[in-house]
Amino acid sequence: MHRNYQYRLRPNKRQKRKLELILHQTRLLYNAALQERCDAYKNCNRKSRISISQIDQQKSLTQIRLEDPEFSAMHLRPQRGALMRLDRAFAAFFNRVKKGEKPGFPRFKSRDRWRSIELPDNYRLDNAQLKTRDFSIKIHMHRPLPENFKKHCGAILVKDHKGWLVNFKIEIEEAPEKKPINSAVGLDVGLKALVATSDGEFHDAPGYFRKAEKKLRRLQRALARCKKGSKRRQAAKQRVISLHDKIKNQRRDYAHKLARDIVNQADFIAVENLKITNMVKNRHLAKSISDARWASLTAKMEYKAESAGKYFVWFDPKNTSQQCSNCNKLVPKTLSDRIHLCDQCGLKLGRDVNAAKNILALGLKTHRDALGTQGAVAECFT
Ligand SMILES: [Zn+2]
Repeated sequence: MHRNYQYRLRPNKRQKRKLELILHQTRLLYNAALQERCDAYKNCNRKSRISISQIDQQKSLTQIRLEDPEFSAMHLRPQRGALMRLDRAFAAFFNRVKKGEKPGFPRFKSRDRWRSIELPDNYRLDNAQLKTRDFSIKIHMHRPLPENFKKHCGAILVKDHKGWLVNFKIEIEEAPEKKPINSAVGLDVGLKALVATSDGEFHDAPGYFRKAEKKLRRLQRALARCKKGSKRRQAAKQRVISLHDKIKNQRRDYAHKLARDIVNQADFIAVENLKITNMVKNRHLAKSISDARWASLTAKMEYKAESAGKYFVWFDPKNTSQQCSNCNKLVPKTLSDRIHLCDQCGLKLGRDVNAAKNILALGLKTHRDALGTQGAVAECFT
C-alpha cells in the first residue's frame, strides 16, 4: 500500500537558490521535450510514423548532460523526473482520447504553472534532512513517518506561497485484518451539502470558504486591472496565489477531518461512485466542483478506512435517488425536487438522505455474501 506524507522544508538561502535553479532547468527540459514530441507528431505522415518515447528522451538527456555543463552540474534525478512527468501527461492524454473524451493537449509550462520538482529515487531521509547529491535540506518533521513504513517510493518538492514542501510517497505494510461490523453508514453526494448520510446528517465545508472565495474574486478583479508587466501587477498576482494556496489548504484540512470523523464512527461505509457517472459531460461548473470535492473526500475516506480495518465500498448511483428507501417503489424526481415523498408508503425524507439510505442498503446486500454472518449482523443497523 502507498501513502503520501507531507512536510515543510526549511532550506537556507543558498539552497533556495539551488531549488529555483533546478525548477528552472527542469521546466526548460519539460518544454523542450514537449516541443520535440509535437514536432515529431506534425512531421509524421501515415507511411513513416515517428514517435518519440520516454526512453528516447532520456537518452537525449544523457547527451544534453554531456554537452551542457550547467545541466550536468545538477543532480540527474529531477531532470529524469521532469521527462517522466511529461510521459505521464501524454499517457493520460491518449488514454482519455481512447475513451472518447476530449482532453486538453499537454501544455507548455509557464513559470506560474511549474512549481514542483520530482525525485523518483536516489534521495535519503536522514536525521530530519532530505539528502540528495545537490543538497541536504532540513525538514520540519511535525510528525514521524508511520510505524508500518516499509520503503520510499519517490518524493516531490513543491513550492507554495510560504516556501517549499516535500511530499514523500511511501510504501507501508499491508492493511490490518477487517474488524467486526457494529455500525454502518451510507453516504450520498449532496446537491446542497457536500455529504448527506443515511442517518440524516449533513456535512459541508464551513462558511468561511465562501468568504475567502469572494475575496479571491475581488483580488482577481484587482489583478486584471493592473498594467501588464508592472510591479503592482506582480504584487497583486502574489496575493492571488497566496489566497489560492490558503483556500486549498483549508479545504484539504477540512476534508481530512471529515473523512476521519466518518471513518471513526462507522465500520462499514458505502458511498456513491461518481467515477462512473458523467463527470466530464457535466457542464454545470458548480456541480463539477462539488464532484471533484466528493472524489477527493472519498479517496481520503477509502485509505483511512483501509488502514483502520474497516469496510469501504463504492456504488454506482443507479436509481438511488429515485427509489423509496422504505418500500423500493420508484418515485421519479427531477434535479430540483429536494424532497422524497413516497405515495405508496408515505415516507417523507430529504432527497439526499433517501439516496444515502439506498446506497447503504445496496452496499450491505451486495456484500452480504462476502461479509458472511457479518453482513447479516450489519443489516440490523440500517
Ligand atoms: Zn415508499
